[in-house]
Amino acid sequence: MLTKRIKRLTPYIPGEQPQDRKYIKLNTNENPYPPSPEIGPYLKSFDIERLRLYPDPLFGMLREAISKRYNIDKAQVFVGNGSDEVLAFAFYAFFDSARGKLLFPEFSYSFYPVYCDFYDIEYRKIPLTGDFAIEINDYLGKDLSCGIVFPNPNAPTGILLPLAKVTELLERYPEDRVVVIDEAYIDFGGESALPLIDRFKNLLVTRTFSKSMSLAALRLGFAMGNEDLVRALFAVKDSFNSYPADLLAQQIGEIAIKDTGYYAAITKKIIESRTSLSGQLEALGWEVLPSGANFIFAGKKGLSGETVYTRLKQEGILVRYFNIEGIKNFVRITIGTDEEIEALMTSVRTLF
Ligand code: PMP
Repeated sequence: MLTKRIKRLTPYIPGEQPQDRKYIKLNTNENPYPPSPEIGPYLKSFDIERLRLYPDPLFGMLREAISKRYNIDKAQVFVGNGSDEVLAFAFYAFFDSARGKLLFPEFSYSFYPVYCDFYDIEYRKIPLTGDFAIEINDYLGKDLSCGIVFPNPNAPTGILLPLAKVTELLERYPEDRVVVIDEAYIDFGGESALPLIDRFKNLLVTRTFSKSMSLAALRLGFAMGNEDLVRALFAVKDSFNSYPADLLAQQIGEIAIKDTGYYAAITKKIIESRTSLSGQLEALGWEVLPSGANFIFAGKKGLSGETVYTRLKQEGILVRYFNIEGIKNFVRITIGTDEEIEALMTSVRTLF
């Protein structure tokens, strides 16, 4: 019954979302604070009659709000059902291994190779430095690649590539090949590549409402780049699903993107908690990579990530580990509330 295509697929495995009991969830980089308080009143007064009609396939109001927020043109904004979908469309639109392999970091977002397999795009994983950083020279070799994609800050390491390096990469990379910078976590203290989209027509920056805007359940993401790139993304969308962002998602997204004050406050709190948690773990002899995200990547000598994960899970605390050579001895811990971090540290002190 199955096609050859489906037999070949190795799907992405999302982080655990257990429904059996209540865990302290520090495993999927969700925001521990509620979304904008403006959303409640909107939902309470929502006229359900509006559900009768299809939503705007051009995401007009939301794209308008995003473009105002970032001071760009509406034609430079695309919207999708989570940034995963935006990335999936971008891979389809821009990466073709007839023009070379796609390059991305060795330790990075594990959805990238899945999209490559899905679309038959050949790729090459580029090793990180000994400090787990991205080295741009390694992406600028003699062999022509069909494009580059990486998260900034990178996941699961949390390490930021400074804007000066991103700029240099774009300056030296062929302008007829697309560079996708996945800025899912950029709001947590990083410097965005967004100001470069007018200068580099081959730059696409992707963002999500799932992390800094605390709306992971809404499934909303967006991309910003040259209008030709955005037009191509619309062409993919309209060949696949015309309405990937429903009415509620579009309107809640619009409310959220405008509420800069509230989100600045919770983001500041998360950054402070990140510093505090990193310090507490380091004081206990853990290695913690410098993070620009809402998670840290940490490990202790002699302890595998799997052991840390398993023991913490027994205590009702979920973190994420990766059974991959090179990062096996780390766990990725999402920054939680003060209470969650305290519970984590109590367990860490007694268990390890
Ligand atoms: N990029 C990176 C690096 C991520 O970690 C995630 C979250 N899993 C995403 C993109 C996708 O986020 P979403 O689909 O929720 O927007």
